[in-house]
Amino acid sequence: MTSPILELRSIDTYYGKIQALYGVDISINEGEIITLIGANGAGKSTTLMSICGVTPPRKGQVFFQGRDITRTSAEAIVAQGICQVPEGRLIFPGLTVTENLDMGAFLRNDRNGIRQDMERVFELFPILAERRRQAGGTLSGGEQQMLAIGRALMARPKLLLLDEPSMGLAPLVVRQIFDIIVQINKEEGTTIFLVEQNANLALKIGHRGYVMENGVITMEDDCATLLADDSVKKAYLGL
Ligand code: ATP
Repeated sequence: MTSPILELRSIDTYYGKIQALYGVDISINEGEIITLIGANGAGKSTTLMSICGVTPPRKGQVFFQGRDITRTSAEAIVAQGICQVPEGRLIFPGLTVTENLDMGAFLRNDRNGIRQDMERVFELFPILAERRRQAGGTLSGGEQQMLAIGRALMARPKLLLLDEPSMGLAPLVVRQIFDIIVQINKEEGTTIFLVEQNANLALKIGHRGYVMENGVITMEDDCATLLADDSVKKAYLGL
């Protein structure tokens, strides 16, 4: 068996005195799409921020490619190949699409590679190619989400962390974005950790999934098994 690309070992994360995560164990293998579902405030975003060095866990450890990155700085974590697309997208509204994409490559200096990767992003998201000179802030919500994902891809991540990419978007646009997430995973081989409130769609594209409640992982299984589970259906699928 190969060792996981990312492993959270019993992490506890706090905001000051408030504990947000309790003994969270998550393991992600290379090439997988892993999904984390849970209600508002369950601790999903905190899990991502514990991985990427923004709110490091107070207890437990985070391993990436076998290396302990629990106390590594956020910038060094990006340099190692973990890239997050934060909730709410956070693109640069005053910069053009091309400039936003360039920002994603800020740690790289291989100009040819950067140009090729930008063409690849435009292949994945043709609408961004059409709007390459337009300011990011003037794009629709769905286009901004595409830009945020495209910008993350410009860092050539080994592991892509996606925080609620469906948030605030129309169902058709969400479907389009999820199709592209699957394409990125299949064609680029990028490992994906997808945090979602849209449990139905997330469990349909994920290989394995975790359910989080009040900062605790309560279930872990193949996505197909979770989709068919009565308690998941009741709590997260509205069935
Ligand atoms: P959502 O889907 O609403 O983003 P979530 O599952 O991502 O929810 P988190 O944002 O991780 O949940 O929040 C987990 C808990 O930590 C919540 O109780 C939240 O109020 C708390 N929390 C989050 N950010 C902070 C902060 N900066 N300071 C204090 N408490 C916080």
